Amino acid sequence: MKTALHLYNTLTRKKEIFEPLNAPNVGMYVCGPTVYSDVHLGNCRTFISFDLIFRYLKYSGFKVRYVRNITDAGHLEGDRDEGDDKFAKRAKLEQLEPMEIVQKYTLGFHEVLQQFNTLPPSIEPTATGHIIEQIEMVKEIIQNGYAYEVDGTIYFDVEKYNKNYNYTILTNRNLEDMLANTRELGGQDEKRSRLDFALWIKAKPETLMKWASPWGVGFPGWHIECSAMSAKYLGKEFDIHGGGMDLAATHHTNEIAQSEACSHVQPARYWMHTNMLTVNGVRMSKSAGNGFLPRQLFSGDHPLLTKGYSPMTVKFFMLQAHYRSTLDFSNEALDASDKGFKRLMNAIALLEKLVPAVESDFDIETIRLNCVKAMNDDFNSPVVIAELFEAARVINSVYDGKAKISLSELVKLKQLMQDFVFDVFGLMDEDSSNEELNAVLDMVIDIRMLAKENKDYATSDRIRVGLQQMGIKLKDSKEGTNWSKI
Ligand code: AMP
Ligand code: ZN
Repeated sequence: MKTALHLYNTLTRKKEIFEPLNAPNVGMYVCGPTVYSDVHLGNCRTFISFDLIFRYLKYSGFKVRYVRNITDAGHLEGDRDEGDDKFAKRAKLEQLEPMEIVQKYTLGFHEVLQQFNTLPPSIEPTATGHIIEQIEMVKEIIQNGYAYEVDGTIYFDVEKYNKNYNYTILTNRNLEDMLANTRELGGQDEKRSRLDFALWIKAKPETLMKWASPWGVGFPGWHIECSAMSAKYLGKEFDIHGGGMDLAATHHTNEIAQSEACSHVQPARYWMHTNMLTVNGVRMSKSAGNGFLPRQLFSGDHPLLTKGYSPMTVKFFMLQAHYRSTLDFSNEALDASDKGFKRLMNAIALLEKLVPAVESDFDIETIRLNCVKAMNDDFNSPVVIAELFEAARVINSVYDGKAKISLSELVKLKQLMQDFVFDVFGLMDEDSSNEELNAVLDMVIDIRMLAKENKDYATSDRIRVGLQQMGIKLKDSKEGTNWSKI
């Protein structure tokens, strides 16, 4: 029986059946990176989690328009748009134009996500490319009475908005407590209330990225870009809005407020938040100084690393945790994922070599249904991985001659691996993608075969032991010789 897709909605704080507004079309907006520096592995976790969601929605038959923005302007250091402009600061440091910074780190971001084999979004809009839309939205919010101007800067009036709507709807906090706990920051004398946040900020003479507006030369606040771009590409009401959990309390709370103040509707039906990647229990972040760069992880060039791990091992490590659980980074956990991933890939490599029998000891449909059930239960990838290991056991036992599989079950088994390992999880066999290595190994195996036929056992043993030292195990059978990584 087909189970319905359930997903956890931060807005209602429960798992709900996923019912898109306009099925089979689905609109999904995910807050993208702020491209003033390299993305760290924590950022990657969030984007890999949404790639899993995107891929599974497509696998389930939905037609998804996936919008993931690039924040390339208007991002000040504080959550409430206070402090220095991150882009300008970086541009000065690297002696580049701000847009050179944007280009450099956007390319780096794309390169990293490609290494993790994530799918590109359907649209990737930038904040600088949508200044007009943002200005229009600010104008409407002012017209509706929810924003005010102070000397060229526009602030959102949180208390006024909260009289007609619920400012803390997403995180269920108490507004009085929030007011009491908000620190005094710059712009306090201008703002009517501490919780008010900037929609448009007046440029200083030294500001590098600035645009003309009805309120003078300035630049947009951080939150308005996502409200303006999601409405432009997905409509005022759409299905899924996502990002890391750290965005819920401020950025997404403010997005909801802006969208409601502009068009009187709550923009997304399902708000989804991914949990954090941590190092020794501390959230990985640029400011905490524990932000591994993916390239450091791949090469092993970091004081906390004992060796490097391949992109697919790292991705497998992430998929072994549910997207709403924290995931702690450690060498031991990565070593375990490395072994697990190789076990899975080695089993898949054997699929083509299995000889079908008339009878079958296995019912592959049960494994597939379990995978679908797990994914339909709020994208439970760790449970799917346990099922895939079950499928690997089936392959190994047939290969070792301990069990039988029929042709029809074998076809189902191959399809299961293709669907979940490659299409839904977006994993790749890094060894088989290395065609040169495969060709060299095939040749070495042929030479060893020849040596054996000529009774030159010294050479054949030398090859076997030499490969073993390199971490490659040979296995001889009636059908020939196969190799696998140890
Ligand atoms: P940023 O470039 O800082 O705007 O972050 C891009 C995305 O990465 C946002 O959705 C953040 O919530 C997310 N993010 C930041 N740190 C982490 C972390 N340690 N683990 C998972 N996601 C994170
Ligand atoms: Zn956003």
